[in-house]
Amino acid sequence: MKISVVIPAYNEEENLPEIAARVKEHLPGRYERELIFVDDGSTDGTQRILRELRAQDSEIHYVLLSRNFGHQSALRAGIDYATGDCIISLDADLQHPPRLLPELLGHWLNGYDIVYTQRADDERLPWLKRQTSAAFYRLMNSLSSVDFEPGTADYRLIDRRVAEAVRNSPDVDLFLRGFVHWVGFRQKRVAYTPDARFRGKTKYTVRKMVKLALNGITSFSVRPLHFATLAGMGISVLAFLYALYALYILVFTQDAVPGWASVLISVLFIGGIQLLVLGIMGEYLGKLFVQAKQRPPYLVRETDPGLADLRPVRP
Ligand code: UDP
Ligand code: MG
Repeated sequence: MKISVVIPAYNEEENLPEIAARVKEHLPGRYERELIFVDDGSTDGTQRILRELRAQDSEIHYVLLSRNFGHQSALRAGIDYATGDCIISLDADLQHPPRLLPELLGHWLNGYDIVYTQRADDERLPWLKRQTSAAFYRLMNSLSSVDFEPGTADYRLIDRRVAEAVRNSPDVDLFLRGFVHWVGFRQKRVAYTPDARFRGKTKYTVRKMVKLALNGITSFSVRPLHFATLAGMGISVLAFLYALYALYILVFTQDAVPGWASVLISVLFIGGIQLLVLGIMGEYLGKLFVQAKQRPPYLVRETDPGLADLRPVRP
């Protein structure tokens, strides 16, 4: 039985030795283990530390990406290289406590294919982060057909079969949280209280969060497009009624005052809706565009010699 642990790291030099030690401490040594660190184009000493860790410990591996491809792509790279019977992913900053590892493994041994974790609402997290996270899950759930549970980030265990589905998915921008829900299989939830970040500060900028949220919504739902259609129909009906009313005023009454207010309001309103609908269309069109180019989700610059390349040949 072999267990793979995938840890994406973007400028996490101060956290790496600690997370490696803690993961090994909590993973029973009787299993074959492999820790795969994915350096997501870090600009600090992450790469050097990874080489050092690798030199000291043959269970540690690294994949260096050619630039910063983002957390989701880094995760995917790690999954692509992992050879274990199950694959556990967690953040490098120790917010995902390694003490849960035995519990995750236990559920897997009992027959679950996906063991995912749910973070309890943590008072210590910044207010804005909590609010945006909660709003994100509310929006996702109202817009998509997949049920997303709040606080389920990328700390999870997946069986080899699920990893195979991830590898074979042709999505260029795979939204793992949604995908892992979508695949089905036997799933088990584990609740936990997150720890504070060990060192350094968050690598998820507001820009990266917005990108992730938009990707999540457009990956798992076409409801926004329905909304565009519905809004278009509703406004057309209203516009038609208003036109009838205007005709009535013009033909049957004497007070056809040049009503600039109503004209202004309707023009602004319809203009706004048009822009919104165009924007929604653009989001999906952009997604199709990116997907049509069939670029790989990440590029690898180097791996340590001990790592076999299992990456599927993507179209
Ligand atoms: N990360 C990454 N690439 C990025 C941003 C983040 O690989 O472009 C990694 C980061 O090193 C960490 C994990 O993703 O291991 C989660 O990031 P972070 O802890 O900064 O996010 P937060 O916990 O603040 O949401
Ligand atoms: Mg973190």
